Amino acid sequence: MPLYLGVDDTDSLRGMCTTFLATELVRTLSAWDLIGYPRLLRLNPNIPWKTRGNGAICLRLGRGRGRAFPVGAIGGRTVLAYPRCGARASPSDGLVEAVEGVVETWSEFEDPTTNPAFVLLETPPTPALYWRAVRGIVAKEEALAAVRGRGIWREYKNGRGVIGATAATAWRPRDRTYEILAYRHPSRWGTRRTIPSDAVQALDTSFPSTFNNYDSENGRVAVAPRTPCPVLCGIRGDDPRELPAALASLGGERPDRWLVFETNQGTDDHITRNPREAVPGTTVEIAGIVASHPTTIRGGHVVFPLRWREPIDVVAYEPSKQFRAIVRALAPGDRLRVVGAVRETPRSVNLEKLEVIGLAPLLSKAGNPACFHCGKRMKSSGRAGPFRCRRCGTRRPRSDAVVVPLPRGISTRWYEPPVGSRRHLSMPLKRSSPGSRNERVVGRTPRRASPSFSRGADTVPTTALAFSRAL
Ligand SMILES: [Zn+2]
Repeated sequence: MPLYLGVDDTDSLRGMCTTFLATELVRTLSAWDLIGYPRLLRLNPNIPWKTRGNGAICLRLGRGRGRAFPVGAIGGRTVLAYPRCGARASPSDGLVEAVEGVVETWSEFEDPTTNPAFVLLETPPTPALYWRAVRGIVAKEEALAAVRGRGIWREYKNGRGVIGATAATAWRPRDRTYEILAYRHPSRWGTRRTIPSDAVQALDTSFPSTFNNYDSENGRVAVAPRTPCPVLCGIRGDDPRELPAALASLGGERPDRWLVFETNQGTDDHITRNPREAVPGTTVEIAGIVASHPTTIRGGHVVFPLRWREPIDVVAYEPSKQFRAIVRALAPGDRLRVVGAVRETPRSVNLEKLEVIGLAPLLSKAGNPACFHCGKRMKSSGRAGPFRCRRCGTRRPRSDAVVVPLPRGISTRWYEPPVGSRRHLSMPLKRSSPGSRNERVVGRTPRRASPSFSRGADTVPTTALAFSRAL
């Protein structure tokens, strides 16, 4: 069994990035073999104190067995990983000090919200800890209890990073995706990135296992962050062997180094399905009925009430862009499955994606009915009164009016926001639709789509901060 090294909360909103620190660890710990891909884990996106994408990393270290495979390039050398670990690994002299050196060099200590930590464990904690950390909230004490007896931990400042660091080591993938992350030469950090838009647009067809590359609805490259961090770009996909070629196909700025991570991005791991109640800070999937017509409120957000166990408002925030048009097209009586983060005040679901299960007929009055006896078109006798035949005096009730169904413009299927407005953890429809790779491999029912909201309106809840592809 390898050693499990977990690191979290070293980055800040402005600069550094925990995945870059992973490349420095790989470079520094070259006396150890990597067992499997380096791992990048996204944890509960609704935690108020998280930094950016709430990502933690895990490296498994040991003596490799089996056929080594390339997982990156750093300093002009290929980084290899092994499929299995030989003898049980235990920390050697200097390993902890080496990790400390990297973490202390590259963490953003001056950022008040950055509280780094790492753990080095000889056995991983139970996967239940990962599931609690991706769906709910784990207390620091709970994480430390999982670490005791398994290895060591180091924490800095308030040490909150120990939660994510431990949770990252507890992941046993049920579903997984990969991301190749390319980094810039330090001399370019903070400067403008040049990534050819046409090359990014070509990824979807040239490398079909990749996803969330280009936001065609908004004409935006989604593979590059907009922050001054060391990341040049990140390409996500289901097939890790496709990713180095996908990166090379972009051209433009030459990466200084790159590394392929195995991740829980795009897996929907964060969703609690059919909960008894909507617990604030969790992401839920609930089925209900649209109670009244959606309304657009100040800031461009769209809201409708959903009849569920409890009546609850569902909100599509402005950053979800074109997705709001789908929400506006909903009508009373429509049956839906909605996925979203539960906000405390006002209690509401911050919509990530939705499935239309059943459409209610939306009828429009097209005219007055004809008389039973003489066939003549009847007249209305006031707003609420019955219809009356002018010729023979026959009456018919208001409910006999001739109606026609209105076209709905939406159909029974899943809908998701544009690429640029999705959460890291949200499974894109491209992965979940019937016949997709994931459907074949995982064999699950078709699922998922999503946004998440960062910039902009003051009415966007803090629980929804998140979507920049920043790492
Ligand atoms: Zn008549």
